[in-house]
Amino acid sequence: MTATVHIIGAGLAGLSAALKLSGRGARVIVHEATAFAGGRCRSYHDAAVGMRIDNGNHLLLSGNHAALDYLRDIGAADRLVGPPSAEFRFVDLAGGERWTLRFNDGRLPFWVFDRRRRVPGTRALDYVPLARLLWAPPGKAVGEVIACEGVLYRRLVEPLLLAALNIDPPQGSARLAAAVIRETLAAGGRACRPLIARDGLGSTLIEPALLDLQQHGVAVRMQHQLRALHFGTERVETLDFGSDSIALGADDAVILAVPPYVAASLVRGLEVPTEFRAIVNAHFRIEPPPAQPPILGVLNGTVQWLFAFPGRLSVTVSAGDRLVDGPREQLAKTIWDEVARLTGLPAALPGGLPPWQIVRERRATFAATPAQDARRPGPATAWRNLVIAGDWTDTGLPATIEGAIRSGNRAAAIVAKQP
Ligand SMILES: Cc1cc2nc3c(=O)[nH]c(=O)nc-3n(C[C@H](O)[C@H](O)[C@H](O)COP(=O)(O)OP(=O)(O)OC[C@H]3O[C@@H](n4cnc5c(N)ncnc54)[C@H](O)[C@@H]3O)c2cc1C
Repeated sequence: MTATVHIIGAGLAGLSAALKLSGRGARVIVHEATAFAGGRCRSYHDAAVGMRIDNGNHLLLSGNHAALDYLRDIGAADRLVGPPSAEFRFVDLAGGERWTLRFNDGRLPFWVFDRRRRVPGTRALDYVPLARLLWAPPGKAVGEVIACEGVLYRRLVEPLLLAALNIDPPQGSARLAAAVIRETLAAGGRACRPLIARDGLGSTLIEPALLDLQQHGVAVRMQHQLRALHFGTERVETLDFGSDSIALGADDAVILAVPPYVAASLVRGLEVPTEFRAIVNAHFRIEPPPAQPPILGVLNGTVQWLFAFPGRLSVTVSAGDRLVDGPREQLAKTIWDEVARLTGLPAALPGGLPPWQIVRERRATFAATPAQDARRPGPATAWRNLVIAGDWTDTGLPATIEGAIRSGNRAAAIVAKQP
């Protein structure tokens, strides 16, 4: 095993790599540019709502095995909450119809044959063409493989793929859609239970990981931004942090777990995804009504998913690029009007809206098109001591927590094998 492993970036990819390597007794140092760990998956105190919130609502599924292993390793598996079986409640804001999708546990999709479980207005036969996605030829978009229309598409396929790929589904990569379906719907209800970090992403996924790293003697150096890598012919020789630099020993290794545009600026000739999609989240400080489900899928609104947390209602809009430049107040009002309709809370409260915050992550994920998917590099580089990780590397999955953690684990395994 190499002498010291320097991990650049304390997002989930960097943290998972650090956990795996420190667990094997490696000497690890994590360098993070900002003052906090977690990257795109973090909690912070928000002054506008006067409480700790997440940068965005993150949904995991019980089939995300790498993410669940990561949580078990850091002793935080019990901090994810979800229903005992795979159920998703939906509302159509256009007609007011409400229904619950109920997958059965096993791999055989009995739910498709049961009108009380499947999507209302669909027949079992409507589901058959979805299988085409699983065998789609490489390089195809979802819209080239299945018909993106009809009740099943609007009520199941579109919300599922929009959330998982963060792109308008017809443009999305069929390969990535297939991976999502293979690991969720096709794996049966046991893999589809929705799980959320009810007490926040920070206290669930990030702080316990930092504690574990500390206990293993890993230094996590915050506000230590890598400015440049200096390359020899075969290996990276120096890490340049501007005010200081680290000369690498012959057996030292580097895992670069930064976003793609940062990686491309540090590593010459590295091909990376260059297009992104936004995710918009709206948070309202208000107690949800007691009967409000923890997660509600919403059709025909600006709101796509409504999450109920203690003392807070939160909304997610994926592929929200059309919302990133408009006035925040107008957006908050539009979203609150829909939230009021969905929850039965009054649209007009005495002081106007409840305390709110809009978080717009412009580059939330790479654009999951076939062309951008083809630009994702694998973990190995031309330099033998440099390995790349991140949700945007070629994991075969869309940009998700699961993909980020798998990429970190993969980078750690490569470094651990080095003599
Ligand atoms: C709003 C939102 C909602 C999401 N919802 C979901 C969801 O519901 N389910 C799901 O599975 N996924 C979701 N995701 C995706 C998920 O958050 C990401 O896939 C995951 O967090 C990516 O982790 P990462 O480590 O690959 O990258 P990042 O989190 O981007 O980590 C990279 C780290 O590198 C640091 N860094 C950058 N440059 C340097 C440098 N030069 N030197 C040192 N450090 C540097 C950054 O500060 C950052 O901490 C969502 C993302 C967003 C933004």
